[in-house]
Amino acid sequence: MSKEITRQAELFQHLAAVEESIVKECVAVGRPRTAVNLVAVSKYMPESDIQILYDAGHRDFGENYVQELVRKAGTLPGDIRWHFIGALQSNKCKVLAKIPNLSAVETVDSASKAQKLNDNRTDNDSILGIFLQINTSGEDQKSGLAWDATEEVLEVARAVTKFPRLQLRGLMTIGSFSESHAEGVNSDFDRLSKLATTLQTELGVPIGLSMGMSSDFLEAIRQGSTNVRVGRTIFGNRPVKT
Ligand SMILES: *Cc1c(COP(=O)(O)O)cnc(C)c1O
Repeated sequence: MSKEITRQAELFQHLAAVEESIVKECVAVGRPRTAVNLVAVSKYMPESDIQILYDAGHRDFGENYVQELVRKAGTLPGDIRWHFIGALQSNKCKVLAKIPNLSAVETVDSASKAQKLNDNRTDNDSILGIFLQINTSGEDQKSGLAWDATEEVLEVARAVTKFPRLQLRGLMTIGSFSESHAEGVNSDFDRLSKLATTLQTELGVPIGLSMGMSSDFLEAIRQGSTNVRVGRTIFGNRPVKT
């Protein structure tokens, strides 16, 4: 078999396996499969890999680096739903917002960044989904609003709901390595879910939960995730960035 066909078979198989385990978990916890969106995290992976999964019908892809996303969005099909999941810098909001088929920015942590995203969208672009990133583990190296700063989170969330070209979709977290590799309830996911409940009550809008990666997406679904971000389990190990 050619290298291309081998890669295609491999990616199909990985995606199907992830799909199947999501379906099983949804059945086990009594949630409809449609309640959980699967974002295939394609950072560092070539356009050809994304095209293969696109041809298999997959549409949601996640990227961490603005330049890489701009490059890929420029050549790949316009109905891909891109999710930006990397560290968000103020000075990158403008170029990000100019990607017409950017579906969501999952790492917003201030009203001023939300404003910049809103102001650089036009009426021709899709409404931009926003997740507020929450640092649920309290680790210094993790980005996001503090999980126990409820008032601040509410304030940013309220601001997002007022921007006409943005739609508040929910909260996002990464969580700690140790929680993600431990048995049982993940306390980072638990914090995110409780905070979302508070926001939902205060704002009266549904608040989704973007949580769960390769190592913990099944537990995340058990704990109510509406958006899982899976990279390595679909694409295999990423090349080391040099
Ligand atoms: C890279 C990344 C993922 C995917 O991680 P895997 O372990 O490869 O599934 C998910 N979310 C964020 C924020 C990431 O940076």
